[in-house]
Amino acid sequence: PVDYVVPRRETFAGLVWDRITDSLTDARMHYGRLLLPKQKDKSVAKPRIIVLGSGWGAHALIKVLDCDLYDVTVISPRNAFAFTPMLAAASVGTVEFRSLLEPVRVANELVDYVQASATSVDLERQTVSCVSDLGRVEGEVPVTFELPYSYLIVAVGATTNTFGVPGVREHAFFLKSVVDARKIRAAIVNRFERANLPTTSEEEKDRLLHTVVIGGGPTGVEYCAELNDFLTSDLRRKYPRLVPRVRVTLLQSGDAILTAFDDTLQGAAMENFESSNVEVVLNARVVDIGPTMITLKDGTEVDYGMAIWAAGNGTTPLVKSLITTIPDQAGARGRLRIDDWLRVKGTTNVFALGDAACNDDDPMPATAQVAAQQAAYAARLLNRDYCLSCEIPEASSPRKGLSKLINGSDEDDEKTRVAKPFQFLSLGLLAYIGRDRALAQVELGKKKIFLSGAATRLLYDSVYATKQVSFRNRVLVLVDWAKTKVFGRDLSQF
Ligand code: FAD
Repeated sequence: PVDYVVPRRETFAGLVWDRITDSLTDARMHYGRLLLPKQKDKSVAKPRIIVLGSGWGAHALIKVLDCDLYDVTVISPRNAFAFTPMLAAASVGTVEFRSLLEPVRVANELVDYVQASATSVDLERQTVSCVSDLGRVEGEVPVTFELPYSYLIVAVGATTNTFGVPGVREHAFFLKSVVDARKIRAAIVNRFERANLPTTSEEEKDRLLHTVVIGGGPTGVEYCAELNDFLTSDLRRKYPRLVPRVRVTLLQSGDAILTAFDDTLQGAAMENFESSNVEVVLNARVVDIGPTMITLKDGTEVDYGMAIWAAGNGTTPLVKSLITTIPDQAGARGRLRIDDWLRVKGTTNVFALGDAACNDDDPMPATAQVAAQQAAYAARLLNRDYCLSCEIPEASSPRKGLSKLINGSDEDDEKTRVAKPFQFLSLGLLAYIGRDRALAQVELGKKKIFLSGAATRLLYDSVYATKQVSFRNRVLVLVDWAKTKVFGRDLSQF
């Protein structure tokens, strides 16, 4: 009999039920061991799960995975999760970087963490090759090593896609990680101080104070909005003579911005930018970025002091290598092809999540919402009585079940449980458009509600405060917002 144990994820009730059961697993893992003597036989080796990455997918997964059942090792070059939706705010100082971070070891102290990058996977030997260049500052050569796995979770996200445009890597800033946001924050103040030097010509001042943002998706739009707030509320007071020269331009290659949003909300964003300092240029395809000049396809040249490239996702080297080595991945377009249970096609015990993965039959957007839901789903598959076929010694594998599904075995086992395929429950879209206004596209089943304006900003703030991954982060973000309102953003360079 088919037993759908994984709750129905397409309903809110399912989501709430998942939350409750995950909290119970978490409480048992972390506090149960303090109260109860450990029941399990320690001589039996547990299957080893290797999780690649420490972003949205990996973080949500380790919050739910049952570490009593598995030895879990996280491998990532970054030792902390970052709340990416607020990177734009951090890049202008509305919130502090550390308020958005949660170290892997804090997210789940029962997992092991190794600071390294995975370079390749040997699917036959079930090993991951890694490289760590932690000793580089002391002039040490990078160290390489291999780790075996029973299950592998690929949650390595995506890189920034430059679309082969010359000069992007050399001259533009990205907004993908905390490191990028930190560079942008220092560069803004740098441009203002350079423009303020007595030796800087008038023409050069105009160039230095022109910020060009390339890409009219949520990241580009939110960055323009945050920068404009910074200019109008803080820089105006601190650099009154320079502010009239400041320009912000948003270049979008298509004929609309925020294309995932409804037309009415796109219009509200355009209107809001028109009445502020942000100039939006549509159908502007960038073909070259020089040290001081951006060239568009129609030959127009735009001088700039700072360029932010927010134009899309590219493929990480690890995903590229997996796509080329697994025959069933032929035809993959930059993301690993996965099945309805999030397994990488052509493998039996490798899952892929988030921006690194795509199900051709049910394509989903590359968002944190998708990555986190996929991760919690994969963790539940592994926590509950499901199993993928893999080479775990019989004695060490307390679980069986999905093998029927995966191997196509005819074994008529009453206990066989077939997991319900992953289904994404979209909760809607939010974007900040500046001047204390936000957009919200709320999805309630098939019904969509569109909201924009100042009241929507309150909704935006409450959602982001609630969505912080820990109580500590929530408090820090609220304190940062209050600090910014009272004292303004910090302009010091360090
Ligand atoms: P990531 O979160 O990118 O994590 C990838 C992890 O893998 C990182 O820790 C990285 O260090 C690690 N890694 C990389 N290579 C390797 C390797 N070889 N070995 C081991 N580890 C590796 N989504 C929303 O839903 N709402 C938003 O408002 C929103 N705003 C965003 C704003 C910005 C500025 C950005 C950049 C993204 C935003 N997103 C938003 C998108 C969201 O952040 C991504 O969809 C999400 O991070 C994808 O999660 P992931 O786990 O797949 O990858």
